[in-house]
Amino acid sequence: MTQDPRERWQLLVAQIEQARSQYYVQDSPSLSDAEYDVLYRELEQLETDFPELHSPGSPTQTPGGRSSELFDPVEHLERMYSLDNAFSAEELDAWFARVERGIADSGVGEAPAYLCELKIDGLAIDLVYRHGRLVSVATRGDGRVGEDVTYNARMIPAIPQTLVGEVPTLVEVRGEIYFANVDFERINSEQLDAGGTVFANPRNAAAGSLRQRIDKREREARTERAKAEVELGKRRLAGLKLIVHGIGAHEGLKIERQSQAYEVLKGLGMPTSDRVQVLSSPIEVAAFITRFGEGRHEVEHDIDGAVVKVDQLSLQDALGATSRAPRWAIAYKYPPEVVRTKLLDVAVQVGRTGRVTPYAVMEPVFVAGSTVSSATLHNGHEVQRKGVLIGDLVFLRKAGDVIPEILGPVLEARTGDERPFVMPTHCPECGSELRPEKEADADIRCPNARSCPGQLRERLAYLGSRAAFDIEGLGEKSARALLEEGVIADESELFDITADQLRQTTYFTRAPKKGEDGPQLSKAGESLLEGLQKAKSQPLWRVVNALSIRHIGPPTAQAITREFDSLDALAGASAEELALTEGVGAIIAEAIVEWFSDEWHRDIVAMWAAAGVRMRDEVKETGPQPFAGLTFVITGTLAGMSRDEAAEAVTSRGGKGSGSVSKKTSYVVVGDSPGSKYDKAIELGVPVLDVEGFRALLGTPVDSGE
Ligand code: NAD
Repeated sequence: MTQDPRERWQLLVAQIEQARSQYYVQDSPSLSDAEYDVLYRELEQLETDFPELHSPGSPTQTPGGRSSELFDPVEHLERMYSLDNAFSAEELDAWFARVERGIADSGVGEAPAYLCELKIDGLAIDLVYRHGRLVSVATRGDGRVGEDVTYNARMIPAIPQTLVGEVPTLVEVRGEIYFANVDFERINSEQLDAGGTVFANPRNAAAGSLRQRIDKREREARTERAKAEVELGKRRLAGLKLIVHGIGAHEGLKIERQSQAYEVLKGLGMPTSDRVQVLSSPIEVAAFITRFGEGRHEVEHDIDGAVVKVDQLSLQDALGATSRAPRWAIAYKYPPEVVRTKLLDVAVQVGRTGRVTPYAVMEPVFVAGSTVSSATLHNGHEVQRKGVLIGDLVFLRKAGDVIPEILGPVLEARTGDERPFVMPTHCPECGSELRPEKEADADIRCPNARSCPGQLRERLAYLGSRAAFDIEGLGEKSARALLEEGVIADESELFDITADQLRQTTYFTRAPKKGEDGPQLSKAGESLLEGLQKAKSQPLWRVVNALSIRHIGPPTAQAITREFDSLDALAGASAEELALTEGVGAIIAEAIVEWFSDEWHRDIVAMWAAAGVRMRDEVKETGPQPFAGLTFVITGTLAGMSRDEAAEAVTSRGGKGSGSVSKKTSYVVVGDSPGSKYDKAIELGVPVLDVEGFRALLGTPVDSGE
């Protein structure tokens, strides 16, 4: 670093102080947590390298928060601390070593037990109960003095107003206030309906909801709109949840362990987590951390790490605390899921059913395990809802671990050069005028279903996908090549493709080797022909799903083909008959009838039939459905069986498939590398089957062919 260390130190302190104010006071951060952590780490390192820079006023010496002028100050009975962080296994090991050394030095001859729990991404609060009555609720503030949010806290049903059982004279309880993800989604859509702004993430929503001056707004609300906003604010408060994670001052309680404190508090009626575990070795702790790192999306609220605490209070006392954080606890932070990047453009694409969706084109950025450069924005309203402009710096995260999602703009970074996205009026692929199907629809569509090149290409690629015919050689690129090189005019001709036709293209051929005559089929060409051949005997539900009928996906297609065993029967059914099928409502029934009423659609079916595509399921299920009422979760790689085949085996026997394990799950079928669903099954005592066990249940002998 060329900069003078003191100058660098000053710059870092200023940046961190500003970020803290935006995060803790304004509930509107302009840095991602990961970016903040990087600055903080650099400051810590600088102070280690240059001890003369160390000062009691440095952000490394204070817990971070601060009391705003918004609320009255409240002095905590006991200090509230922040937590030190570990970002890697090495840093965690170093903490274990420090703890063990600290205990040995203190002369307390006891081995530490480690209490492990989740690090809830909310905000800390301090609740004081005297004689069983809630008397004060405060935010953490600077750790000594917090903000008095008692008035608001009384509107949060998750916070007990009185304790139950044998109440102590005094107890100061620490916990995390947060929104469950479903509640976060709900309050954001309520905010939107009311014309308000949406929150970027559940943590900001929780902080913003708890820290609103609702009393003042209640007094001053004159207009209907202002009154409605107050009501909305109260509803947000009502949706907040609490989980207890600490105890401060207390009288009349004898507590020796952190875990015992939780038990006692639970007995007094406080909400505790059922995921807390007390473990005896660093190896078990590491396994706990890994398990929830993999399964963080199975938790109903956001977590940003796991917290490990020495369980015995005597050892906690022996280890003590720095001015900022206890030495007896550490937060293991999971890799960041929210990053910032630049929104370069908003482009639109046409889907296989004509839906036109805007998507974000971004500067490539690494997030949660992969590099991301685009994200869907769903529809024009969504772009407005998120308030993003082209050119903005935006917050981006992976929703549900896989799908990139733009959360919102970094308003502070605007330069004035940004411009709003305008939804096109005409299809970018075929020029047709776009329109919503019904007036109230948020989605707009290209009406040119038959020949819009975009729709055609997407339908064709979908035919090849795993949800439809599952044709290895048919994806986005080959679909484009088939159309652009004139092999086929549309999907009706797909199964008539010949090797000769493909030999006349560039995409599906390779240069001849010595002794070969003329262009030869490339791997892509061979695999397409082979795939098409195999696809002809796929089960009927795949054929139905492949038709790209609106609202139909694999589960509906399977439900339909349980009732209608041929495409002829389906084409001839009335909307009323179709609607009687389980899993098919009036809208889907209508969509099916409408689809078959188009002549060119019927031509597709006729051409496929002529080419030998299966049009009827030979094995019609009759008799009892052995899996009726049973729910299966399939996880890991199953030997000799694809996920789709396994799911089909379950549904064809009347069972249901599910993506997550709960007490209601009947069986978890486990293949190789099963991950956290397996652990969950063990934890909940759900029966686990390996592939052999699963096949035995299906009544199929183990198939060693392939
Ligand atoms: P922290 O969030 O790293 O850890 C301490 C906090 O964890 C506690 O105060 C408590 O609220 C919470 N917590 C959740 N579950 C817990 C549990 N089971 N046991 C104990 N505590 C639990 O520390 P901090 O000082 O509150 O904040 C620092 C962090 O906040 C940063 O690492 C960063 O992620 C974020 N931050 C971000 C910005 C930004 O600009 N984006 C600014 C400041 C802070």
